[in-house]
Amino acid sequence: MNDILPGIASTWRYVESIVVDVIQSYGYKEIRLPILEHTDVFARAIGEVTDIVEKEMYTFFDRNDESLTMRPEATAGLVRAGITNGLFYNQRKKLWTLGPMFRYEKPQKGRYRQFHQFDVEAIGYPGPDIDAELIIMCERMWEQLELSRLTLQINTLGSHDARASYRKALVDYFLTVKSALDEDSIRRLERNPLRILDSKNQDMEEIIADAPVMIDFLDDQSAEHFEKLKSLLDGQGIQYVVNPRLVRGLDYYNQTVFEWVTDALGSQGTVCGGGRYDSLVEKLGGRSTPAIGWAMGVERLIELYEFCGGEASKQNIDVYIVAAGHEAIAAGLSVAEELRQQIPGVIIELNLGGGSYKTQLKRADKSGAAYAVILGEDEIERQEASLKPLRTGEGQSRVAVEKLTDVLAKQLKR
Ligand code: ATP
Ligand code: MG
Repeated sequence: MNDILPGIASTWRYVESIVVDVIQSYGYKEIRLPILEHTDVFARAIGEVTDIVEKEMYTFFDRNDESLTMRPEATAGLVRAGITNGLFYNQRKKLWTLGPMFRYEKPQKGRYRQFHQFDVEAIGYPGPDIDAELIIMCERMWEQLELSRLTLQINTLGSHDARASYRKALVDYFLTVKSALDEDSIRRLERNPLRILDSKNQDMEEIIADAPVMIDFLDDQSAEHFEKLKSLLDGQGIQYVVNPRLVRGLDYYNQTVFEWVTDALGSQGTVCGGGRYDSLVEKLGGRSTPAIGWAMGVERLIELYEFCGGEASKQNIDVYIVAAGHEAIAAGLSVAEELRQQIPGVIIELNLGGGSYKTQLKRADKSGAAYAVILGEDEIERQEASLKPLRTGEGQSRVAVEKLTDVLAKQLKR
């Protein structure tokens, strides 16, 4: 679990603001959700035989002996909230949320125990139009953030029935190579063979590469859905690779699944992943409702942003006010408030906590401010301030306090 320190937090804030702007420009509304849910919500939604539910959840009993879990992902809680609050009843909803998720994973670059996700969900939409739009939205975000090195992988998991026949074919295949399977895969063979395809074990790669693929078992409706999705993406010039072994790490997906993957961050390269989950609302106690969504890992997004040369938004102090003594501080508070109110976006630091003029001017210089405003005894008496450019070598000048806002606004080009 990481501390996000001030140096990088400003980059987070900037990147998040761009992502939020793009998401909201497609008509999605924010929803804020609890971090704790009943364990059952995740067990039912994500699937009992998944990495997350089997070994990654932070689960505990509260004082009332109820089993609670710190959310490992957002979709299950969001769907639970929609059902609890009647949001999906004869309505379509486009929702987004952002926040920390918790998984007991092996910590490594790009994989943490507390991490953050943007989550975008469209509930009540059967697709494939919305499937395409959700993917296009991602591409817009990459453009806005000037990210490169991302490729889109798509696949279809078909209908429930098609998956049942595929599952059978998978079991048959994996039984023929059973002696080469790892422990996890053997356990999954009976209960959830699709999960084997999602194995992170390199030794399993070849066996998985030879496994049957879903596309050969696809039902007509899903095949048509997939074709339409591809043609809508083609129409927008979105490039993709069909990866027939893409299954995603959670059980609730059907039909469309996709991942945006980068080769720039080492082995944890999936920045954003999502898909359709047409049976989840019903599974969690609501009415049958089609839905699709994606989740994006903010840590990986920030890493890629920095890799691509993105910088933190500059939060430089513009003006440092030097004021020694009670009277000067009183005047300084007024000047600072006035400047903050009148000059859009300006950052003003008033010297607090005392210090001689010399000390204060040193602090002003160190702060990176473009100007120092000095409120000395003589200045206060004359209702003036000294304006000292700190970065240009220009000499300081006297300005009437009432003119200070105008002069600084002009100098700072605001
Ligand atoms: P992975 O295959 O990398 O484990 P996943 O299939 O578990 O991913 P999701 O549960 O769909 O992924 O999560 C969506 C995104 O959230 C991932 O693509 C990734 O960017 C991010 N993510 C998931 N787990 C972590 C983690 N432990 N640390 C950091 N980011 C994560
Ligand atoms: Mg995972």
